[in-house]
Amino acid sequence: MRLKTVLNRVHKVKGFVYEKARFHDDQIEITVRPHRRSRPICSGCGQRGPGYDTLPVRRFEFVPLWAIAVFLIYARRRVNCPRCGVTAELLPWAEGKHHLTHAYAVFLARWARRLSWREVARIFHTSWESVFRAVAGVVEYGLAHRDLSGITAIGVDEVQFQKGHRYLTVVYQIDSSCRRLLWIGQDRTTKTLLRFFRMMGKERTAALQFVCSDMWQPYLKVIAKKAGHALHILDRFHIVAKLNKAIDEVRAVEAKELATQGYEPVLKHSRWCFLKRVANLTDKQSARLSELLQYGLKTVRAYLLKESFQTLWEYKSYHWAGVFLDAWLKRAMRSRLTPIKRVARSIRAHQDLILNWFAARKEFSSGIVEGLNYRIKLTIRKAYGFRTLPAAEIALYHALGRLPEPKLTHEFC
Ligand SMILES: [Zn+2]
Repeated sequence: MRLKTVLNRVHKVKGFVYEKARFHDDQIEITVRPHRRSRPICSGCGQRGPGYDTLPVRRFEFVPLWAIAVFLIYARRRVNCPRCGVTAELLPWAEGKHHLTHAYAVFLARWARRLSWREVARIFHTSWESVFRAVAGVVEYGLAHRDLSGITAIGVDEVQFQKGHRYLTVVYQIDSSCRRLLWIGQDRTTKTLLRFFRMMGKERTAALQFVCSDMWQPYLKVIAKKAGHALHILDRFHIVAKLNKAIDEVRAVEAKELATQGYEPVLKHSRWCFLKRVANLTDKQSARLSELLQYGLKTVRAYLLKESFQTLWEYKSYHWAGVFLDAWLKRAMRSRLTPIKRVARSIRAHQDLILNWFAARKEFSSGIVEGLNYRIKLTIRKAYGFRTLPAAEIALYHALGRLPEPKLTHEFC
């Protein structure tokens, strides 16, 4: 069996013929020529037109065979198009400027979802840039061809990008039928989120029934303005995260106070005792926690307030959850713990949005947004190569966007 036969089976290209294959410099080269009677397609308007001349031969990298690099060798024609003038012909197997064939780009992009881009480049003897371009091409296709109909629930979240205070705003679809990353924007301002709603358009925005977000003021403002008809739910995961941050602050200040007053460093290495859920503590940590609870420390009071707040989520009725929340807020405001009071004030200001979670019959567990948030952080961390925002965006869409891929006649991986 000849290589030509195999190629015609896995990668038949209409209007073109595979000619001879040869082994050259440890690579397989396959010459491609146009079918005798076929006329080139203009890359400007997509119509066939008369040939003009032929450009120099170029190499297009194809999926490797037995770990040997494979190249399609082709001299591109130019079209004398009556509408566009002289243009280069449209190639069915590759983007004009790129040296990667579509098949190889999809192949690399699939591997890039399983491994880091650097590893993919190393395994397939190609450059990081080639992997980047492959993923970028597949993502571009996916964004242009994805289906945005039927979205009823979204979650808005902020993610820290790089060191310092650079943020990305991310929007997820959190319908039970489809959970995916919908959109990424630089910063976390009102303008950022307004751009998302512009992308969604009026009709799709009107179809939204639930919006989850954290307590970030610019988000609240835009959601009220653009999706006021939907039930806006403050995300449980973010509220607990805020309380944890407050405990951390109380603990840090108190530890310092105790040290300057010459007390034993009881709070040393205690951070995780207070931040983890009781059920997740190791035996050693849990023994340490019971010891710490015996001291009348501010940190302990803050911790107990947070733990009792968790009871809120166990309520079944909207009404009783509200009664509980009122009582909790009173206790928190009387706690004389500044960081806790700060969180309590912001909870009180958005009480309705928090209780909306009960109105939505707990349909949106904090696990959804938390899980997606975790995977975003993982993708950003795994991708050491992403010094630039566009590369990070492409990686995130690729990993979490559930984008459709270009159709190929053969599944190469
Ligand atoms: Zn044309």
